[in-house]
Parts: sequence; structure tokens; C-alpha cells
Amino acid sequence: MHVVILGNGVAGVSAALKLRELQPAWEITIVSGESKYHYSRPALMYIFMGHMRYQETKPFADSFWAQQRLELVRAWVTRIDTSEKKLELHGQAPLGYDQLLIATGSKSNKFGWPGQDLDGVQGLWSLQDLKLLYANAERARKAVIVGGGLIGIELAEMLHSRGIHVTFLVMESSYWNNILPDGESGMINREIRAHGIELRLETQLDHVVDDGTGRCRAVVTNHGDEIDCQIVGLTAGVSPNIAVLEGSDIEAGRGVLVDGNLRTSAPDVFAAGDCAEIRAKGDERNTIQQVWYTGKMQGEFAARGLAGKATGDYDSGIYFNSAKFLDLEYHTYGLVGRHIAGEENLYWEHPNGKHAVRIVYTDEGVIGLNTMGLRWRHEVCERWLRDRISVDEAVRRLEEPYFEPELYFRHEPFIRRAFSEALQQPTEGAL
Ligand SMILES: Cc1cc2nc3c(=O)[nH]c(=O)nc-3n(C[C@H](O)[C@H](O)[C@H](O)COP(=O)(O)OP(=O)(O)OC[C@H]3O[C@@H](n4cnc5c(N)ncnc54)[C@H](O)[C@@H]3O)c2cc1C
Repeated sequence: MHVVILGNGVAGVSAALKLRELQPAWEITIVSGESKYHYSRPALMYIFMGHMRYQETKPFADSFWAQQRLELVRAWVTRIDTSEKKLELHGQAPLGYDQLLIATGSKSNKFGWPGQDLDGVQGLWSLQDLKLLYANAERARKAVIVGGGLIGIELAEMLHSRGIHVTFLVMESSYWNNILPDGESGMINREIRAHGIELRLETQLDHVVDDGTGRCRAVVTNHGDEIDCQIVGLTAGVSPNIAVLEGSDIEAGRGVLVDGNLRTSAPDVFAAGDCAEIRAKGDERNTIQQVWYTGKMQGEFAARGLAGKATGDYDSGIYFNSAKFLDLEYHTYGLVGRHIAGEENLYWEHPNGKHAVRIVYTDEGVIGLNTMGLRWRHEVCERWLRDRISVDEAVRRLEEPYFEPELYFRHEPFIRRAFSEALQQPTEGAL
């Protein structure tokens, strides 16, 4: 049996490793156009900022792959031929498969802005984007970042670290407040400005201005303001990268459509990670999960299907994500900011505006947790949500999730006092 995995991001590589464990004798090939070896994509910013070398972002030594008998092919796949069971490769002979996993990840969104393809205008997803950024940053004094998500703030920080003046255009009324509640979102607005990054809220890109040589020289916003810049970072979200499906009979929606077993509409073809769109069973919306840890989970789950050892449908379990907004660490678990019927929120923020905790709960117990500027134990947070402990119990047990208390200032006495007071006043309970 020969399994080909298209994409060497976290989903593809997690699938390969799990499949090797489940099927020690099978032939496994990983194809990727971006790089021969897997590296950690979220570490792109650390390379640029000089905190890590590229070599250090590779979780496995280059010799590891041969030891595991995982063949690596560096090539761009141009077409999937499901009837002949082969991949057409750019500039190389086609590659046959018995089973295929598509794990092609995401691509940066472009919304057809005039000037979006000028030199100096770019997204940030791949090593190729990073290389371009080095070249663009060399000649830049000013940059404009368009779109206030996680990658936008990272790109702003990266350019700012090189002494480039950054103007950050965010469509929403507060940074990422389509995801974050007002308290946390407000903290990040302050953090961005405190770092000297110019944050313009409720502002969108209208068009990019050509300097006459095909390179950007400014952007014009929807308010008609012209902002000089030599780099425009397009970070208005990402979408599943499904270009490779063109000319194939594999069904696609926004992503590669898969069932609960991560099987596509084509025989022996699976998909996992950012590119996969899981069909909903009822009238709910299909699911696309574009975060690192679900890529890993989906990859490992797909490997079980490929190995013929699938059990039940894929379940991502309790939602988790983490990020760093400049100097503010952020962790989220479960349902925060989803406005679930009957939800109440407890929110504590340190007077210095650098630490915060939110507990979201209903009559049935705790359903979500956010921490900013402090770290709680992952396994405890997950257990609290899985067990649906009551909010009173959570407040009583606040020491439990605290991470390495000897290294951190203990905030929980203050948090407990604030939360206990809030819980005694149910009408004002949601701070
Ligand atoms: C700067 C940055 C910071 C991030 N930070 C975080 C974070 O803090 N937390 C978090 O959860 N997530 C973060 N993410 C998102 C996270 O990296 C993705 O969710 C994850 O990498 C998705 O993994 P994947 O394996 O599905 O796809 P990808 O990592 O995108 O890998 C897909 C691979 O497939 C290859 N490929 C695609 N098409 C073809 C083709 N036709 N032929 C050959 N090869 C092809 C691509 O080149 C790529 O190597 C960040 C992303 C970026 C860019």
C-alpha cells in the first residue's frame, strides 16, 4: 500500500507519523512545494525577529524522515487525477497513490482591492512570503497592515521590531472583537498603541496606490485618507487552500468537503487540517478549523482512517487556542464570546491592564475560560469544562489551574475576591 500525503504542515506530518505507527510496513510519501522538511509555521515571526534560526523551527532532525521511512518529495502538485490515482507535479514525473491525504492548509485572503498585486503588497503564510518580507522590509520606512487578526498583529510586531512605522487598519470597532469580548479586546488595543503601533479602528483598505513603477507607495482608506507606505501587509483572514482541486472531481465548498471520517467524495482520498471542510450532520454550518492543534488532531485522526482503523466520527473536543499579542499571552478554552443562551460572565482585570481572567458559565456549569497575561494549566482548564464544574466551585478552586506558582505573581486571591463579590450580586454578576 502506498499512501501519499499532500502537504507537510502540521496536519500532513501528524498524519504521516501516526500512520507509520499504525502501519509499519506501508510506503508513505509526503509531497510539499514549500519546503522539503516540515517546520513550525507559527515560528515564522521568530525567524524574522531573530529569536530563532530557520533550522531551529524544524521539530525533527533532517535524518529523522529516512529513519522513519517517510519519503519526502519537494514539488508543487498541479492536479489530482482520481481516476488514474495519480498526482501531476510541476516539472516532475507524476506520482501514483493507493490512498491520498490532502493537507494543503490555508492561503491569505485577497478581496480584489485595486493595487493588491503591486510589488510590496503581500500576505504572510509561507517561507516564500517570509523571504519576500525580508526583501520588502529592506527598503521600507513605513508599512500598513490590513486586517486585525492573529497574523496581522504578528506582522505588525515583526515590522515594528525593525524600526518600520506601522499603521494597523482594523475594520472592527475594537481589535478582534468579533472573537474576543470587549474587556480582552480593549486590553489589546491599549497594548498595540503602547508599543507605538498606530491602530486605526473602523477603517478598511480602499485601494493601494502605485508609485508609477508597479510598486506600492501608499494606501487609501475607506475614509479617503492616504497613508504613505512601502509595504502593505494583507492579513484580512485566511481561506482553505484548495487550488489543487481544480480539474478534479473531488467535491469542494469553501474547503475540501469531507465526512465525519475526513473522507472526501473521491474513493481513497481524505483531507485534514486547515483545508478541510467537515460536512455538518443537521442544519448546523459545516466546520472549518484553521488552528494548529486541530490540524494535528485531524491529521492523526485521518491516519486512522487511512490505516483502516477509524473509530467513530472526528470530534475536536473542547476548543482551545493560544496566541501572543505583543507582550500579552492569551489562552482560550471552550465557548467564550459565543453568546450562548443563558450565559453569564465573570471578568477580572488587573488595574495595570496586563492580566485578565474570564469565566463564562450557565446554570449547567462553566463553559468557557479566557486568560490574558497569565497562564493556567491546560489539563485543569479542559477538565473543568469537560466536568462542567459550577462557577462557585471554579472560584473556590482558583489555585488549581495556576501555572508554576513560584514563577508567577499570585493573582488568584484578588480574582477570587472580585468574583465572589460579583456572584453575591447576581443582577450585576456579569462584570
Ligand atoms: C505567521 C503565522 C502564525 C500562526 N500562529 C498560530 C498560532 O499561534 N496558533 C495557531 O493555532 N495557529 C497559528 N497559525 C496557523 C497555523 O499555522 C495553521 O493552522 C496550521 O499551520 C495549518 O496546518 P496545515 O497542515 O493544515 O496546513 P499548512 O501548515 O498550511 O501546510 C500545508 C502545506 O501544503 C503545501 N501545499 C499546498 N498546496 C500544495 C500543492 N499544490 N503542491 C504541493 N504542496 C502544497 C503548502 O506549501 C504547505 O507546506 C499561524 C499561521 C501563521 C502563518
